[in-house]
Amino acid sequence: MKKRRILAAALALSMTAIPFLTACNKGGESGTGTSKTGDATGSVSEGDKGSQASSAEGGDTEYYVSDEKQKFSIFLNFNNMPFDPQWPVWQEVQKLTNVELEASIPQSNSDEAQAFQLMLSDNNLSDIIGYVDMTALEQLGFDGGLIPLNDLIKEHAPHIQKMLDEDDAFRRAATAADGNIYFIPRNQENRFAEFYWIRQDWLDKLGLAVPDTVDDLYKVLTAFKNDDPNGNSEKDEVPFFDRAGHKHPDEILYLWDSSIQFYPRDGHLMYDPMHENFKYAMEQACKWYKEGLIDQTYFTRGPSGRDELMSANQGGFTHDWSSASNYNKSLAKDVPGLEMVAMAPPKDQNGNRVERTVNMPGVGWGISVNAKNPEMVMKFFDFLFTEKGQTYMDWGLEGVSYDVNADGSKVLREDFLAKEGTPIGNLRAMGSRYRVGYASSLEAELSTYSEFARAAAELYQKNTDWYRPDVPPYADGQLQLKLTPEESAEFNRIMGPITTYVQETYTQWILGTKDFASEYDAFIAELENRNIARATEIMDSAYQRYLGKN
Ligand code: CA
Repeated sequence: MKKRRILAAALALSMTAIPFLTACNKGGESGTGTSKTGDATGSVSEGDKGSQASSAEGGDTEYYVSDEKQKFSIFLNFNNMPFDPQWPVWQEVQKLTNVELEASIPQSNSDEAQAFQLMLSDNNLSDIIGYVDMTALEQLGFDGGLIPLNDLIKEHAPHIQKMLDEDDAFRRAATAADGNIYFIPRNQENRFAEFYWIRQDWLDKLGLAVPDTVDDLYKVLTAFKNDDPNGNSEKDEVPFFDRAGHKHPDEILYLWDSSIQFYPRDGHLMYDPMHENFKYAMEQACKWYKEGLIDQTYFTRGPSGRDELMSANQGGFTHDWSSASNYNKSLAKDVPGLEMVAMAPPKDQNGNRVERTVNMPGVGWGISVNAKNPEMVMKFFDFLFTEKGQTYMDWGLEGVSYDVNADGSKVLREDFLAKEGTPIGNLRAMGSRYRVGYASSLEAELSTYSEFARAAAELYQKNTDWYRPDVPPYADGQLQLKLTPEESAEFNRIMGPITTYVQETYTQWILGTKDFASEYDAFIAELENRNIARATEIMDSAYQRYLGKN
C-alpha cells in the first residue's frame, strides 16, 4: 500500500509539469480530425453491415473492428511480463479483429513503474495504456492524458455497456470520482479473495472440531500451542500466523469485527479504532499474543514466512489466498499428512460471520489522447467482452490448452495441466489471463485450482451472506473508494501520520511495551487531535458517492 501511495504522489508531481490536453482530442473522437480518420470511420459502418452479412455465411470478419486494418500502440506490463503481440492468443485476437498491436514496452523491460514514468515524462503516450495502479490511471485521466470513455462505450461497446448496466461492482470500479470512465476494468465473476485456513490433520490428531466461533478458535489455538500437534515433543507450534506483516493488525482484529481501517457502520464510514468493537478486539489480541497463540515474531516475518512455517510443520491457522493449500501437495513428502483446509470465518463475539476481503474488478486499460481512432479502439476493447474474446483470455486456445465438453463447458487439457510450471503461468505464457479489460469467469478461475483451493472457493462463493453488501471492495487491507485529487491530497495529509501512529501504537500494545487499557482514552484523544473527523468526513463522502447517495 505504501509503495502505491508514494508512486501516486510521484505521479501527481511529475504530471503537473506535462500538458496533456493536446489540441485534436475531440476531433479524433468524432472521426473528423483528418481525412484519413474520416475515411476509416466511414468504412466502419459499411464494414459492420458487411460483416454481419458475411458472418451469416460463416465468414471470418464477424469481429472486425474495421475493414481497414487498424494499428494501435499499447503500453502494458503485467507481473514483469511486457505485452507481446506475438503471444499465440493475441495473434488470434489480432487476426479476428483486423487489428495490429504494437508493444511500447520492450520485452527486456521488467520495471513497469519506471516505464510508465518514462512514457509520461516523454509525453509520448501509447494509444492504449494499462497500468498496475488504478489511481495513477485515473490521475492520468484527470490530467487529460486518458480520454473519458463513457460516450464511446455507449456508441461502440454494447458488451461493455451491458456489463456496466448489470454489474454494480464493475461500474463502480470503472467510474472515477468525477463520474468519468477512464479505463475498462478487468472484471471477475468470483466473489472470494482470501479464506481462513486451518490444519485439519492437527485438529484430527487432537480430536478437535473445526472452530465455529472466535471462542472455539481460542480453545483450538490454545491446544495447538500446548498439545504438540506436530509431535516433536517441543512447544514450537505457531498457532496463528500471517505472512503479510503490513496487514497484521487487521488480520488479527477482523476476528472481533474490527480493524485499523475505515469501515461502514450504520450507513456511514467510521474509522474502526473509534468504534466500540476495537476496545474488545485489542484486549483479546493482546491476550492471544501474550499467551503465544499469535506468532511472536510476526513483525519480522516477510512474505516467505508462510513457506518457512509450513515447511517446518509449525504453522496452524491463517487468513490467506488459495495458495495456502498448495502445501498439501508440495510438502506431502516432507510433512506427511499435512492438510490445510478452508473453514468458515469464525462467528465474532456478536454472533456475526463476516469475510471482509473480497475480490474486486481490477485495473484494465484505457485510451490516450494520442489514439487517432478511439472508436476503433473501443470496438476492439468490446471484443474481449464477447464470449469469444472472453474465452481467449480465460482459456487460451482450443485443442492446445483447453477442450470443449459435449455440454459446452470447457476444461483444461490433461496434457496442458501436466506441463512443467503452473497452469496459470502457462496460460499467461500464451497471452491469456493478462491484465486487460475483460470479464473472467468463475469456471475458468476454478479450472486451475487444486481440490483444496476449489473446496475453499466453493465454500466462500456459496455463502454470499458472509459478505456484507454495504461494504465496498476491501482489497489489500483497505476499502477501495474513489477520491478526487483534492480529496485524496487532503486525506493523505491527515492519514499519513495517523496511520503511522496507529500502527506503532498497536505494536507497542501487542508487545506489551505499552499498556492498552490505561492508554486507550489518550489514544482516542490523539486521533481526534490529529483530525480523524475530517478524514472520516472525506471517506464517508466518497462512500455515499459509492452508494449513489450524493
Ligand atoms: Ca511441537
